[in-house]
Amino acid sequence: MSGPTNEELEIYRKDLRAWLDTSIPDWWREEVAVTGFEAEDRFDELRVWHRQLFEAGYMGVTWPKEYGGQGLTVQHEIVRSEELQRAGAPPTVNLLGITLCAPALLGFGSEEQKQRYLRRMLSGEEVWCQGYSEPGSGSDLAGLQTRAVTDGDDYVVNGQKIWTSNGQQADWMFCLVRTDPDAKKHHGIGFLLMEMGSPGIEVAALHQMTGGTDFCQVFFSDVRVPRSNLVGEPTQGWQIANHVLMHERGADVGCLRYQGFLDAIAEQAQRPRPGGTRLADDPVFRQRWSQLRIEFEVLRQNTLKALELQKSGGTPGPESSLFKLQASEFEQRLTRFATEIQGPYGQLWQDSERVTDRGIWQFREMWARAYSIYAGTSEIQRNIISERVLGLPRA
Ligand SMILES: Cc1cc2nc3c(=O)[nH]c(=O)nc-3n(C[C@H](O)[C@H](O)[C@H](O)COP(=O)(O)OP(=O)(O)OC[C@H]3O[C@@H](n4cnc5c(N)ncnc54)[C@H](O)[C@@H]3O)c2cc1C
Repeated sequence: MSGPTNEELEIYRKDLRAWLDTSIPDWWREEVAVTGFEAEDRFDELRVWHRQLFEAGYMGVTWPKEYGGQGLTVQHEIVRSEELQRAGAPPTVNLLGITLCAPALLGFGSEEQKQRYLRRMLSGEEVWCQGYSEPGSGSDLAGLQTRAVTDGDDYVVNGQKIWTSNGQQADWMFCLVRTDPDAKKHHGIGFLLMEMGSPGIEVAALHQMTGGTDFCQVFFSDVRVPRSNLVGEPTQGWQIANHVLMHERGADVGCLRYQGFLDAIAEQAQRPRPGGTRLADDPVFRQRWSQLRIEFEVLRQNTLKALELQKSGGTPGPESSLFKLQASEFEQRLTRFATEIQGPYGQLWQDSERVTDRGIWQFREMWARAYSIYAGTSEIQRNIISERVLGLPRA
C-alpha cells in the first residue's frame, strides 16, 4: 500500500493544529504548560483530556478501526506527535496500556479479548498498569514468584509486584504469573489480565526522589481471576512478555519531544545574565548544545527509519535495545546539561523563589535517572546488543 501524499499529511497537520489551538484546556495553559511536572497531581483532568483526543480521532492513529483506532499510517503518527509537542499539549494517561498491553492483545489475544479491552484502553476509560517486576526479580524477570493456581473457572493469585507505575490510578493490570512451578523458569509463566478492584489486591505507594509517587507495590492475597482473562496459552507468558518488551524498548515517536527540550535550552541561553552577557555567546555552550543537537538528529533519523521498517515488517527485534540505550543515555546527558548551565541556581528546587523555569530541569534530570533502569537497565540492554545483535559470545 502506498503511503499518504505530502498534501494529505499537510491537511491532517492543519486540521490537528486548528483543533489543538482551541482544545488545550485552560488549566493546563495557565498552570502547567511550561513545566508539566505537576501532571501526576492532575490525573483526573488528564483523563478528560485523553478522552477529548480520542473523541476527536487523535488517539490510536495507526490502530485498526475495528478496535477504535484511525487506521492511518506511521507518517500520520509522526505528524501527530510533532503537533502535540509544538502546541505544548498535556500528556495522555494510559501509556502502559496503549503501548504495551495493546500489542500483547493484538498479537496473542482472542477476538473476544480484543473487543472487550482495546477500545476502552484507547479511550482512557480503563487505565492499565504493568505487573512484571517483583522484589527478587527485575533484570532476572523469569525468576518471578507470583503464583496463579487453577481452581474451577478461576486462577487464584498470590504474591507481590513492585515498581508498578500508575498502580494507584489503574483499573486493570497486565501481569506475569507463575502458572507451572515445575517447568523451567522461562516456560512456566502466564500473561494474566487482572482487575485492580478485585478483592485481595492491595496497593501501596512508593515515594521517589522527585517527590512524586508514580509507582507502587501491589500485593495479591488469594485474588480470584477468571481463567478467561489469560492471554494466549497458560505457559506462553514469557513469549508474550518478550514481544511486549521489544515494543517498550523500541523506536518511539515520543523521542521527538527532545526537539522541544533543545529549543527551550536555546531560548534560556538567549536571556541576558548579570553583567550583560548571554550564554548563547559562550563558545563552550554553543559546542555542547550543537553536539546534543547532532545526537538528537541521529536518534530522530534512526527512530523514523525503524518505525517505517516496523510498519512493513511487524514486530521490533532485539535491535530495539539500541533505541532504549541511545534514548535513555541521551535524555540523561540533555537534562544534566540543562541543569549545569544554570550554574549554582541548578541546585535549587521548585519551592525556591529564585529557581529558574520553575525547576523543570532539575525535575527532569532526576526523572531521567529512571530511563536507564525501567524496561531493562542499560547493562541488560548492552548484554542483549552484544549477544543477540552482534553475536558476541556470552561472558
Ligand atoms: C521509574 C520506573 C518505573 C518502573 N515501572 C515499572 C512497571 O510499571 N512495572 C514493572 O513491572 N516494573 C517497573 N519498573 C521496574 C524495572 O523494570 C526494574 O527496576 C528493572 O528491570 C531492574 O530491576 P531491579 O530494580 O530489580 O534491579 P536488579 O535486577 O536487581 O539490578 C541491579 C543492578 O544490577 C545490574 N545487573 C543485574 N543483572 C545483570 C546482568 N545480568 N548483567 C549486568 N548487570 C546486571 C543492573 O543493571 C542494575 O544496575 C520500573 C522502574 C522504574 C525505575
